[in-house]
Amino acid sequence: CFVAMFIISRLICIIGKLRPWTINSLPYQVLSDLDIATRLRIDQDSIRTASSDFGKLVQEIPFAVLHPSSVNDIVRIVNLSYSSTVPFTIAARGHGHSVRGQAMARNGVVVEMTSLSDIHSNNNETKNIKVSWSPSLGYYADVGGEQLWIDVLRTTLDHGLAPVSWTDYLYLTVGGTLSNAGISGQTFKHGPQISNVHELDVITGKGEFITCSEHINSELFYAVLGGLGQFGIITRARIVLDKAPTRVKWVRMLYDDFSSFTRDQEYLISINGLDYVEGSLVMQQNSPNNWRSSFFSASHTSKISSLLTERGILYCLEVVKYFDDHTAHTVEQELELLLEGLHHIPEFKFKKGDSFVDFLNRVRSGELKLQSKGLWDVPHPWLNLFVPKSGIMDFNAGVFVDILLKQNKATGPILVYPTTKKKWDERMSAVIPDEDTFYCVGLLHSGTFDDWKALGDQNNEILEFCDKNGIKIKQYLPHYKSRQEWMNHFGSKWSTFQERKARFDPKMILSPGQKIFNFV
Ligand code: FAD
Repeated sequence: CFVAMFIISRLICIIGKLRPWTINSLPYQVLSDLDIATRLRIDQDSIRTASSDFGKLVQEIPFAVLHPSSVNDIVRIVNLSYSSTVPFTIAARGHGHSVRGQAMARNGVVVEMTSLSDIHSNNNETKNIKVSWSPSLGYYADVGGEQLWIDVLRTTLDHGLAPVSWTDYLYLTVGGTLSNAGISGQTFKHGPQISNVHELDVITGKGEFITCSEHINSELFYAVLGGLGQFGIITRARIVLDKAPTRVKWVRMLYDDFSSFTRDQEYLISINGLDYVEGSLVMQQNSPNNWRSSFFSASHTSKISSLLTERGILYCLEVVKYFDDHTAHTVEQELELLLEGLHHIPEFKFKKGDSFVDFLNRVRSGELKLQSKGLWDVPHPWLNLFVPKSGIMDFNAGVFVDILLKQNKATGPILVYPTTKKKWDERMSAVIPDEDTFYCVGLLHSGTFDDWKALGDQNNEILEFCDKNGIKIKQYLPHYKSRQEWMNHFGSKWSTFQERKARFDPKMILSPGQKIFNFV
C-alpha cells in the first residue's frame, strides 16, 4: 500500500508538471482509484508504443496507458470514465496493426490488451485459450480478446483442432480482427472470422460486463462483430473449431488475361473441394517473391520476369487443398480434377506442399526478412476495398492497369479474390457491397517516409475513379475524415449503428481513433 501511495504521489507530481491542465479531470479521477493507478503508465516507452501503429502515418498521444492485469481492471477504467462528469476516451489496443490510428486515443487512455496475455506464461496450457466441446456447438475455443491468432492456432492444434476462418497474417489479436471482419482465402467457404463466433464477453462503454450471443443480448453481439471497437471491448470470444488437417497442397497459376482469371476464381469458389482461394497482381516492380510468401524458384522467377517485360502485368491465382494421413494418397488426384479446364497460361502452374501451420503462418517469414532489412517498420498507406463483381472488370482497367501499372508506384502485395455475401450476416456491423459476389482488393503499399504521401494521393485517385465510374465499393478497415463519409459508408446501416452507439456507448468513450463519433 505504501509503495502504491508513493507511486501515485510521484505520478501526480510528474503529471502535474507535464500536463497541469489535466489535473482536475482525468488524472485525478483515475489516480483516485488506487489499484488502477498502479497499472497506468505514462513512461516514454508506453506512450510511444500506444501513439504509433503499423501504418506509421498517424500519431496520437494518449494521456496514459493501462496495462491491465485482469478484465476487472478494464471494467474499472471504463466505469471511471463513464461515471465522470468529464468522461475521457478509451481505446483497446490489440497488436496495434491498424494503419490509421484506429487503436489510438488522443489525451485518453489506451488499454494494452496484450498485457492480459503477458500475465499468462508462455506455456500454451496456461494461455487464455480453452478448448471444449458441447453437443449443440461441437468443438469450440474460449479465447481472450487479447490473444494472437498464432497462439490460438498453436493451442488448438494441440487438440488436433483449429479455427476455420483466418487472416493472411496471424500476429493480430482476436479482438482486433473481430472488430473488423477477419478475411482471407477461406472466407468464401466459411465466411469471415466474425461469422465463426458463438459468443462474446464484452465491456460496454457504460462499464457493464455482458455475455452476448445470437440468443442472449443479441443486439450487442451483432453490434460488436465488425463494430470497429465502438460498442464494447471484447474480452472473450467463443470461436468455432474443426478438425485440423496436417498438410496442404498449394498451387499458384499465372494469367495474362484478367477476365479468365476472375472467371476461374469465381468458378473455384462456386464448387466444393478447395479450402482456400486467393489471388494477386504480379508487376515488374512488385516481385513475385513479395512478403506474403516465397514460392517461385530462381528459374521460375526469371521466366516470370521475361513474361512481365512483355505484358507489364500478370494475375496469380492461388489455391490450397488441405489433407492429412488418411487423404494423402488421393489429394493430388482430387486437386487435379478441381483445377481441370482452368484458363491459366499452361506452363505457368506451380505447386508445392507445406505443413498446415507453415501455410497459415506464411506471412511471418516474409515479415522477419523485411524486419532484418529495416523494411517492416515503414509507412503503410494501405487501401483495402470490397469491389462488387459488376465493377471488377472496370476496376482492373481503370485501377490496376491505368493507375497502378502506368504510374509505376505499387510497392507491396496487391490482393484480389472473390467471396460471397451469403456467408456474411446482415445483422453484424460489418459493411459489404450489395451484390452476391464481391472482390476483396488489398493494396498493401509499403512506402518510405518520403514517398508515402504520393501513395496516399494515388489511393484518393482510386477512390475518385470508383466514384466517377459508379463502382459501389466499400472500404474494408475503413478510414474517413467526415461524418458524411461515414454515413455513406454505412448506408442503410447508419441509423442502426448510431442507435447502437447511443445504447452501448452513449458518452462516446470507446475507440475514438476510428473517428466515427470523435473528430477531435
Ligand atoms: P488494433 O490495430 O490494435 O485495433 C484495431 C481496432 O480494434 C481499434 O479500433 C481498436 O480499438 C479495436 N480493438 C482492438 N482490440 C479490441 C478488443 N479486444 N475489443 C474491441 N475492440 C478492440 N485483416 C484481415 O481481415 N485479413 C488479413 O489477411 C489481414 N492481414 C493483415 C496483414 C498485416 C501485415 C497487417 C498489419 C494487418 C492485416 N490485417 C488483415 C488487418 C488487421 O486485421 C486489422 O488491422 C486488425 O485490426 C489488427 O488487429 P490488432 O490486434 O492489431 O488491432
